[in-house]
Amino acid sequence: MERYSRQLLALGLELQQRISSLKVLVVGCGALGSTLSDMLVRLGIKEITVVDADVVELSNLHRTRMFTEEDVMRPKALACKDYLSKVNREVKVNAVVDVVDAENVEELVRGKDVVFDALDNVNYRLILNDACVKNNVPLIYAGVGGEYASAKLVVPGKTACLSCFLEPVDSPNACETIGTTIATVDAIASVQIQLLINYLRGKEDDEMIILDMSNLSMERVKMSRNPKCEACSLHEYRYLNYKFTSCGLFRYPRVQGTLTYSSREVEVYKVNDGVLLCYGEKCYKKTTK
Ligand SMILES: [Zn+2]
Repeated sequence: MERYSRQLLALGLELQQRISSLKVLVVGCGALGSTLSDMLVRLGIKEITVVDADVVELSNLHRTRMFTEEDVMRPKALACKDYLSKVNREVKVNAVVDVVDAENVEELVRGKDVVFDALDNVNYRLILNDACVKNNVPLIYAGVGGEYASAKLVVPGKTACLSCFLEPVDSPNACETIGTTIATVDAIASVQIQLLINYLRGKEDDEMIILDMSNLSMERVKMSRNPKCEACSLHEYRYLNYKFTSCGLFRYPRVQGTLTYSSREVEVYKVNDGVLLCYGEKCYKKTTK
């Protein structure tokens, strides 16, 4: 408990014991996911599973402190695991190099005490929301765009879920690159961690937290459940049958392409409208814009 002595002074023993029993899933290990994972492992959770099918790129480094130049072209999930294992060996760290889609999402979500949404794609976010609502697992969402960011706690059956107010975007516009800053990412990751701490204290406020970092302002917007929501009201979970292929990263068969990079962990091929990342037999296509 020496490790957590200062934290105990702030949170108390009972809350620390609850934290120490948590099994957490972090979906996406980019800037937001890596920052969240770092905080969760330092906080002292029991077990963390990080999932990402992408590799670290040089253009990621400005907004994350976990990855260094040595990690460029490494699978994000594996680089994340290596780092987290050095931070706190008492925490069990699982890395899954994969996308989280309709095929595997429920298996990943089941048995977890809380799920963190660190995705950058609204379509995958709706799939994750469906799985969490269906399996009654709390979800802590955050989204980042420029110097704005938002976060929300979803408690299935109690608060509004993401499907109450988000629509899928199945067009190439869904993968437009949005910039952001390390300050915005770190701030909203901190909000997500505080939402977890407050949830463990019994707070289940149904509100969206909106940060405008350029003004250093934070707003709380009251939300409410949509009685026509297909996930939390009608229990139809239609995104669990969806296959989005318009943009982002998605499962793809191994096709002919030009090999541009190869290591023990990943092979990268250039194909007509993007790149193919192959981890052994499993390949993922990444459309580039
Ligand atoms: Zn809903």
